[in-house]
Amino acid sequence: MTDSSETDHAFATRAIHAGSEPDPRTGAVIPPIHLSSTYKQDGVGGFRNGYEYSRSANPTRDALQEQLAAIEGGARALSFASGLAAEDALLRALCQPGDTILLGNDAYGGTYRLINAVFGNWGVKHFAVDLTDSSAASDAIAAYRPKIVWVETPTNPLMNIVDIRKTAELAHQVGALLVVDNTFATPYLQQPLALGADVVVHSVTKYLGGHSDVVGGALIFADPGHADAVAYNQNAAGAVSGPFDAWLTMRGIKTLAVRVKQHSENAAAIVAGLVGHPKIEKINYPGLESHPGHEIAAAQMREGMFGGMLSIQVTGGRDAARKLVDSTDIFILAESLGGVESLIEYPYDMTHASVQGTDLAVPENLVRLSVGIEDAEDLLADLQQALDKI
Ligand SMILES: *Cc1c(COP(=O)(O)O)cnc(C)c1O
Repeated sequence: MTDSSETDHAFATRAIHAGSEPDPRTGAVIPPIHLSSTYKQDGVGGFRNGYEYSRSANPTRDALQEQLAAIEGGARALSFASGLAAEDALLRALCQPGDTILLGNDAYGGTYRLINAVFGNWGVKHFAVDLTDSSAASDAIAAYRPKIVWVETPTNPLMNIVDIRKTAELAHQVGALLVVDNTFATPYLQQPLALGADVVVHSVTKYLGGHSDVVGGALIFADPGHADAVAYNQNAAGAVSGPFDAWLTMRGIKTLAVRVKQHSENAAAIVAGLVGHPKIEKINYPGLESHPGHEIAAAQMREGMFGGMLSIQVTGGRDAARKLVDSTDIFILAESLGGVESLIEYPYDMTHASVQGTDLAVPENLVRLSVGIEDAEDLLADLQQALDKI
């Protein structure tokens, strides 16, 4: 739970202070990492502050959870071993065999695989629709009456924009819950719970950790009842984050505001430098006025910022795209995103290989960039020299 003094403060203040009270015994400004797996009981069942065993609760994980709830404006948060572990726990707690999940038709490949290949075997159905088209979304929600509507915005890797407020209204009309994967935007740029979402999902591996040195996931809930149901499942099934991972994630979140501001500025500078390049057919970036979701993104994201992710579609198809990702010096060819260093990847055969041949397959000439916080002129020059080689 966030206390009221935290919710009164603006974003960066909350990110830095929530969950990080100086240690009451020593005054240590940075609370220690509690590695202990178990806790002394003062007589059988005499738990100190509820601590019994670290799968059930751990002070470092609790501190991170407090910070996560504060930055997303939620009632409660839970920290997991990975983004997909968080998604799995959420869906297992909230769905039964026979229920339907409605998701966007360019959801993250791993999310689609989990819902399709794992939950499909347990009798949970799913339908993928273009949620950027609100009349298609409205028709599908009315027809399928899903238990959960799953939204990513911006989407990975096509950078499509979904109207969170409108989709929340449509979901709630049929009693569905709206889940928003806020990994790409981060809570600094976008606050889904304030726009009507019920649950926010994060791969904290990406921007929240921010330094490509921790794998983790999180769920943030508007309704503490949903949190209780998922927390029961998390303790029963065990996909918790370890204390050191939780601590690294906390450290990352403290600089989220300054990092995301710079990621956004750098991405905008790169897009401005690449617009009209003869080797580029299309730039997918919601900050471009020509982007079909630009106005919605501008309204639901922080003013003037559109994040550090973009994708480009090159002339010359698959071979040219693969050559481009092999030709950069500063942009590192790697999966994942959201770290301080710039990354480049070929979604068709890398992050989105698991959706080849499905409705969610991505274009073969697509290259995804995670723009880091190096100097923007170096990043642009690197891309220009690599484009010259294709
Ligand atoms: C990476 C990612 C996930 C999965 O998270 P992991 O931490 O890799 O398990 C989910 N959603 C999005 C948008 C992602 O980028």
